[in-house]
Amino acid sequence: MSKFQPLAYYEKPLEAGYKLLPFNFTELAADEYVLTNLVGEHLLLQRKTLNQLVRHQLHSNDPAFNELKSKHFILDKGSNVALDLLALKTRTKYQQLPEFTSLHMFVVTLRCEHSCPYCQVSRQSDDRLTFDMSPETAEKAVEMVFKSPSKTIKIEFQGGEPLLNFERIVQIVSSALIRNETEKRQLQFVIATNLALINEEILQFCKKHEILISTSLDGPADLHNKNRPRPGGNSYELAIKGIAQSREVLGHDNVGALMTTTLASLPRVIEIIDQYRDLEFDGIFLRTLSPYGFAIKTKFFAAYNAEEWLKFYFQGLDYIIEINKRGTHFVEYYATTILTKMLTPFSPGYVDLMNPSGIGIAALIYNYDGDIYASDEARMLAEMGDKKFRLGNVLSDTYKEIMLSDNLLDPLEKSFTASVPMCSDCAFEPFCGAEPVYHHATQGDCVGRKPDSEFCSRNMAIFRFLIKRMKDDPEVKLMFQRWVGR
Ligand code: SF4
Repeated sequence: MSKFQPLAYYEKPLEAGYKLLPFNFTELAADEYVLTNLVGEHLLLQRKTLNQLVRHQLHSNDPAFNELKSKHFILDKGSNVALDLLALKTRTKYQQLPEFTSLHMFVVTLRCEHSCPYCQVSRQSDDRLTFDMSPETAEKAVEMVFKSPSKTIKIEFQGGEPLLNFERIVQIVSSALIRNETEKRQLQFVIATNLALINEEILQFCKKHEILISTSLDGPADLHNKNRPRPGGNSYELAIKGIAQSREVLGHDNVGALMTTTLASLPRVIEIIDQYRDLEFDGIFLRTLSPYGFAIKTKFFAAYNAEEWLKFYFQGLDYIIEINKRGTHFVEYYATTILTKMLTPFSPGYVDLMNPSGIGIAALIYNYDGDIYASDEARMLAEMGDKKFRLGNVLSDTYKEIMLSDNLLDPLEKSFTASVPMCSDCAFEPFCGAEPVYHHATQGDCVGRKPDSEFCSRNMAIFRFLIKRMKDDPEVKLMFQRWVGR
């Protein structure tokens, strides 16, 4: 016997008032519900109004009626183009899919002269040359990059510390530029470096080829140097000097920085944000640690839980909101990524918050030994001995074999949030991501049990926070709209 009534029971004729289009909802606060549809439109309704809506009792002169109609939650006789508009928005949301893969990360060496205990890539000491990418591997990897159909190609150099194998960076940049003379893609390069080894020669090369610099900065000197030990104990001093030097040669906006939250960071979010403001950055990405590499071995990852990190994050976000209210534009990048999904029809293309997952689609990783991984986290996992997301090797596999490998297609299909338990019913699904690598790493399963997932609890709390702040304060709503360029 079917658990459901026949279809006709749910399908009311338009003459009766309106039809419901697909949506999910969840309680946000006492008596108040947030509704979302498949393109990420959202609105808030009182419980009474929601009850009337689903029972087809909402009158067309109710103030909620027009908003529900314009955001494609309902369809009435006057909604001639509503379904076409919904289809268009759905297409816009998934427009990056035929344009895969734009980000290509090259691990030119796993060597590093830092010895950060939270290192997620399991770096090797700087004299172990076996962990460098060879010229032949680099050439084959560049060949593979241009097999991607994406019109924009970003090549990011990663490590270890990539400047320890600067020779390989020079080779890859030259080779990619030569290929691009016929390919005509929008080509961009980034070096992710701790800046300890930056010098004038490297900077002039970066300037000539418009290469961006992305560095690590965890906060004030004592915190940064504690998190990021190196011989001489001067990681912070070198990073600050390197940022100034790089800005001078490359331009202020061509140098970015990323922080990682450790246990020692938790009580210091205000100081960390102020450090970024003092250095005249436009924003900060308050990043949690990921469960990979030395972060697991040294127990840094387990040192704080989702609840403790959320306290740190919300304190930081409240402070950033106050900074903006006082007239200074300064953003938090993770919130901005989510707000782009909430307030615009576009997908920000951030791997962790993509659905289908961004593995392989948004990014590919070329490891120093030629192995290709589906994401940066996937290669971090491989360094811990788990090659679940290894897609092949540039020296022995074709592009087709790599992109159609079971190690990519299986997790992509299985983790699609619109069809997995809990996510498929979740009102926040349009803002969230699939994250198969994280769930495999923490639960041994690409889908993951979401009630036990810190990825889920962290994100759900942030979605609720952002929606509530916009509801409670129109000034914050306008501010968030500005953050996403509206
Ligand atoms: S991971 Fe959690 S918050 Fe994200 S869609 Fe799934 S259930 Fe919702």
